[in-house]
Amino acid sequence: MVPAPAALPTAAPLIPPRPTLPALRDAAAGCRACDLWKRGTQTVFGEGPKGADVLFVGEQPGNDEDLAGRPFVGPAGKLFDRALGEAGIDRARTYVTNVVKHFKWEPRGKRRIHAKPNALEITACRPWLEAEIAVVKPRIVVCLGATAAIALLGKSFRVTKQRGEFVPSPLAPLVTATVHPSSILRAPDEDARRLETDRFIEDLRRVAQELGRP
Ligand code: SF4
Repeated sequence: MVPAPAALPTAAPLIPPRPTLPALRDAAAGCRACDLWKRGTQTVFGEGPKGADVLFVGEQPGNDEDLAGRPFVGPAGKLFDRALGEAGIDRARTYVTNVVKHFKWEPRGKRRIHAKPNALEITACRPWLEAEIAVVKPRIVVCLGATAAIALLGKSFRVTKQRGEFVPSPLAPLVTATVHPSSILRAPDEDARRLETDRFIEDLRRVAQELGRP
């Protein structure tokens, strides 16, 4: 008789029964639900207050975030902070996190190069993100980049075509997606970078407009 396939390992059994952000952060620090804990320096959990108006979700921590143990602190995070300011969104009213909480990387010489998380890793890590959303209860969830958008809005969502649109979702009253700020940093030249930054700020302004509504 063929044995039944083992259930996918996920972080679900590690979620505390009465989750709070500090309890979730502590529990996630010891997560071994997928192999990425072996590669990253530490779990990089989300940051921001319970009751934040907007919850931003990126793909995963990068090299700087992995070393600092905090999300969105590297060059992309700095661009993100600037864009939030330009759009009129108070960073103190936001919660920032990632679909996957450990840095996945491949060695290239002495450098650690970002590698995309796979579907098993995203599934394994998802309970942390769901718990964060459930505790924070944001009015708006914003996916940053295709990995976050596909993980939360489904494979048919195309950031290139649908960025800035609000789509129905059980995650929050309003859910949308835009590009990840790291993609702006990869633009081929200064003009393209400026154009992409302006488009990003425009998407964030739509979020700010919604926040301004009663
Ligand atoms: S990436 Fe997520 S599921 Fe995998 S070990 Fe880290 S915290 Fe756990």
